[in-house]
Amino acid sequence: MAFSTTDTIVAIATPPGRGGIGVVRLSGPDARAIASGLIAHAGPLEPRHATFTLARLPTYVDPSRIPTHVDSSYVVSGPLPSHSANRAEAGSRTEPDSQVSSRTATGVEADSRIMTDAIDHVVATYFPAPHSYTGEDVVELSAHGSPVVLRAIVAAGMAGGARLAEPGEFTLRAFLNGRIDLPQAEAVADLIDAVTPRQARAAFDQLQGTLTTAIAAIDATLFDLIARLEASVDFPDEGYHFIDPGALAKAIDDLREKTTKLLADSGLGRLVREGLQIAIVGKPNVGKSSVFNALAGASRAIVTDIPGTTRDLVTETIDLDGLRATLVDTAGLRPATDIVEALGVARSRQAHAVADLTLLVLDRSQPLDEEDHDAISQTIERNRLIVANKTDLPSAWPDGDTSAAVCVSATTGAGLDGLRRRIVSALDVDLLTDRPAITNVRHIALVRQADDALGRARRAALANGATLSEEFVLADLQDARRALEEVNGQRTSDDVLAHIFSRFCVGK
Ligand code: GDP
Repeated sequence: MAFSTTDTIVAIATPPGRGGIGVVRLSGPDARAIASGLIAHAGPLEPRHATFTLARLPTYVDPSRIPTHVDSSYVVSGPLPSHSANRAEAGSRTEPDSQVSSRTATGVEADSRIMTDAIDHVVATYFPAPHSYTGEDVVELSAHGSPVVLRAIVAAGMAGGARLAEPGEFTLRAFLNGRIDLPQAEAVADLIDAVTPRQARAAFDQLQGTLTTAIAAIDATLFDLIARLEASVDFPDEGYHFIDPGALAKAIDDLREKTTKLLADSGLGRLVREGLQIAIVGKPNVGKSSVFNALAGASRAIVTDIPGTTRDLVTETIDLDGLRATLVDTAGLRPATDIVEALGVARSRQAHAVADLTLLVLDRSQPLDEEDHDAISQTIERNRLIVANKTDLPSAWPDGDTSAAVCVSATTGAGLDGLRRRIVSALDVDLLTDRPAITNVRHIALVRQADDALGRARRAALANGATLSEEFVLADLQDARRALEEVNGQRTSDDVLAHIFSRFCVGK
């Protein structure tokens, strides 16, 4: 990490914008001292007690210099002003906690004489190390949810010696201090990002340690097997095997059962976490935008009578039986007649190429023409559903032609529930598998690596008849263990950590 992980950091922990409450969080060795320096409460903050008091801006912070966006480039500098000017004012204020502060914050005399402007009423809560979110001393200051107030409190904290936190730095510290492991840290980000209850539940399960426990169970057995094999390798002269090939193969089979089970859930898990893309294609005017709107439940895409007007991609995220589905309304796949449309068509092709499912919309009130047939053949290789739209109008298709299609009317809404059901079944995931234990591609890839290594270990265990060559098995089991240690963060490069924590917002 390019920044220190031992100093005291501060950030607004609640979302940007206005709200009933906003929280500023301080974490690090000086959190309590810095917090005490910017509140009026006289006694030491008591562990896990809510203290109602006043937050005040030290005079050496010029309120007009508090930037609109508090960022790390904001540095409080310049000499401390004379204290006497503010003395009278400080004594005359009505405040929740009328005692005047006289403690010392890091490097700053937090005397009442240098405290002037009250910022807001706050509730200060002190969580001493190690029983806090980060594992360090933490103070949370809850004020009114005004960006101006919260920025002023952050600036006061920075004036007291705290550094503005990097994105995800509180959670990074929780990880570095062993409060949570890496899947749990990742689960925090997933939980915050969740848009469907199913996503939130999968993230919360991971935060509670479902994946951690599953991995730990595999790792414990691996550790035991590795220890026995190492003993056999270390004492070759005795000619004694600390485990026989049959028992070893059986133990590896048991482990693979666990990795296979995790991987079996991974398809659904990935869909739950990442959501899926559904591209809506078809020639102009068949009703793509109307089907999109009907599925999205709102007039989001612009519906027109002029062919080819959806020139850019319009997307909308919907909750499809708890799955986060991104609908992409495309410009169609036909050759474009102008440059703007050409760009749109190129984007459609891209969206279509990465989509988990393609909805090919056809107009049932018109006979199929060459363009429709082209679209049918262009999508044949894809996971595709054909949607016969405009069923409120008389059908222009010969009888029986709709058997392969889902019939809907975007205008009346007829058939849309059936379409939703068909979409879910076309995804080929068992939504009844209620709680996938593994959802994140990083974890899936590593568990797959571990599973492959276990497969190799098993083959090595039974190779050469029953004369066990421990070294080979050992190397494979160690590979498996390394992969699992990368899942839970015991062995993860700084780059991977930086990537994971860069997903977080500041304050988390
Ligand atoms: P797109 O070019 O494929 O996106 O098509 P639009 O969604 O813009 O629709 C083209 C025209 O067909 C508009 O006039 C829509 O009102 C009309 N339309 C769309 N769906 C239906 C439908 O189910 N029934 C009827 N009668 N008209 C529809």
